[in-house]
Amino acid sequence: MSTRPRVLQHGRLLPELEQELAADCDLTLLPPVAERAAFLAARGPEFTGLVTSGAFGADAALIGALPSLKVISSFGVGTDALDLAEAARRGIAVGNTPDVLNDCVADLAMALVLDVARGVTAADRFLRRGDWMNGRFRLAQRVSGRRLGIVGLGRIGRTIAKRAGGFDMDIRYHSRRVVADAPWQHEPSLTALASWCDFLVVIVSGGAETRHLISADVLDALGPQGFLINVARGSVVDEVALVKALQEGRIAGAGLDVFDREPNVPTELIAMDNVVLLPHVASGTEQTRRAMADLVRENLRAFYRDGRVLTSAL
Ligand code: NDP
Repeated sequence: MSTRPRVLQHGRLLPELEQELAADCDLTLLPPVAERAAFLAARGPEFTGLVTSGAFGADAALIGALPSLKVISSFGVGTDALDLAEAARRGIAVGNTPDVLNDCVADLAMALVLDVARGVTAADRFLRRGDWMNGRFRLAQRVSGRRLGIVGLGRIGRTIAKRAGGFDMDIRYHSRRVVADAPWQHEPSLTALASWCDFLVVIVSGGAETRHLISADVLDALGPQGFLINVARGSVVDEVALVKALQEGRIAGAGLDVFDREPNVPTELIAMDNVVLLPHVASGTEQTRRAMADLVRENLRAFYRDGRVLTSAL
């Protein structure tokens, strides 16, 4: 019988990561929902490890069905789909993948800032439609030197601020606490930040505490000249209020990498030319996904070797 750790996999991962994990441990993929209850009842007690991702997570029901669970290793920095309180209560170690994705997520946030303002993808559609034959593309909005408000000055938020500095932008941020060593001005009121800035970039953590933080009031404060960029989680923005604000011209446009019910995107948004829509790809480069995969594997290895993960989410 194998002495390798028994690890349950929730959701598909990069194929190469799955192969590497299968070399390290006895890896079993959690079956589809219809077969899950019977599978967990029969085999749940076998597993000491769970490997998952920000998309699939681990809720209290799954953790509860794994009575021998000692470690969770999750692909992604976001922990909103993991029941951290339940894991902590059970003394289960939880690893995620912070920092290795800061650069690529920040790059993509800036790509959205540039695109919503300059109309990069809209101009591309204009050209491909053959509209250039009939006239010029509309005038766009300047980015350099404008005001950028960051909601959540954490690891990624700071990286976005550094990039925006390269565009000579005036930067302020909102978070619950002042970031002591940050050179940018803290704005204790989110609506005050929204009314000050031209671009409001959302990069807070997801979960119950930040649900609908970007409300109709915040969007009204951003105003008809303001752009919303969301690279955090769909749940942070009141999507119904956002669609309404865009339909009524109460904000200028939006760049969205994340949505409330992925992969479903409100059909109203699809038709809008001042909205840039991406399928949750902010960390999606070969280099960053490789680094995230390495950390998922190293967190599991470190736990089974030393009893602790390298990057704890708790
Ligand atoms: P950090 O934990 O470093 O930063 C989170 C920031 O959010 C902190 O500044 C925190 O400050 C702030 N924050 C948390 N709650 C609130 C609140 N209620 N009101 C205002 N500010 C709040 O996380 P990262 O920078 O590493 O990642 C941020 C998030 O980005 C992740 O949780 C993930 O969901 C998302 N993400 C999305 C990706 C994508 O593919 N689109 C890829 C990677 C990450 P304070 O506690 O002082 O309020």
